[in-house]
Amino acid sequence: MVACCLWTAASALAAPPLATPTDSQLVQAEQEAQAVLMGTPWLATEAELEDGWEPLRANLALQEDGVTRAQIEADEAEVLLRRVRGDVIAVEEDRRAQQAMLQAFVIEAFVLANGDIDPTPDAASVASRRDAPIETVTEDLLRSLTASQIQLEALVRERAEREQNWAVAEATVSARRSSRDRAEAMVDDYRTRLGIRDEEIQARTDEAIGRNEEPRLVSVGGFLVHVDLAEPMAALLAAASEDGIEFGGWGHRRVDQQIVLRRSHCGDSGYALFDMPAGQCFPPTARPGYSQHELGLAIDFTEKGSTLTRSSPGFGWLQMHGAEYGLFNLPSEPWHWSTTGR
Ligand SMILES: [Zn+2]
Repeated sequence: MVACCLWTAASALAAPPLATPTDSQLVQAEQEAQAVLMGTPWLATEAELEDGWEPLRANLALQEDGVTRAQIEADEAEVLLRRVRGDVIAVEEDRRAQQAMLQAFVIEAFVLANGDIDPTPDAASVASRRDAPIETVTEDLLRSLTASQIQLEALVRERAEREQNWAVAEATVSARRSSRDRAEAMVDDYRTRLGIRDEEIQARTDEAIGRNEEPRLVSVGGFLVHVDLAEPMAALLAAASEDGIEFGGWGHRRVDQQIVLRRSHCGDSGYALFDMPAGQCFPPTARPGYSQHELGLAIDFTEKGSTLTRSSPGFGWLQMHGAEYGLFNLPSEPWHWSTTGR
């Protein structure tokens, strides 16, 4: 008992309980936290990153469909263009042939009128035209020539139109491609950020584990505690039991267990896990590497299976006797008692 109480007095002198932060301190901490949160890319939560993926993936699929469709349109326009170009060439040839024919008939008609040269004996159309008056033949040929020219002009116009369509389809393909590339780049960026975040979390976990030496632990009445706390803890449980108080609860907690708690009490961004002030979590939860539980020097008490509240008989008992055994309460958590009050 003497050893217990000397030890108790030393602890109490070394580490008085923490003062409750003021509102303005909390506001300042919140602002600092926000600034860190805004400025650090790896702080997005897993859920936020996952939410980001879906529209990106959908956009990517949409863009790929668009590229395929626009490519088909461009190909079709090209086929049509080639066909129109073939038609233009055919009409031009036709016109050239008609012009040659017209020329031949004009010469022939002139020659026949003058009676100097014999007509070509095997051409039936030549024969029919030879019998017609020269004016009629010329008129027919001119009419046919005009029709060919109109057809040619229409084909040229159509070609210009097709070329325009083709250019539009090509521009669409290229726009869709660059849009798809952008979506792909964003997906890559998200993937990179997720990777960086995982690495950071691993590094911070290792750092938190390395902060403290592995404590020597013993089990006392179902509580895993630091060897230095074993004797006072056993005495506390015995004294409480004599007064009709049966405590349950937890002592030591590993860093990875602390991280699990931070995840559910503070959030799952890197900032929430490792840097957010304990008081901003609900319920307040110490940063990994900074919890007295990790040293086996803090106890979370329960009574009849329930976490202590200020109205629990156990809480009243601890308020009266806790300090005798070197345990001090963290004011924001009636169930949490430690050698430092943190
Ligand atoms: Zn605790």
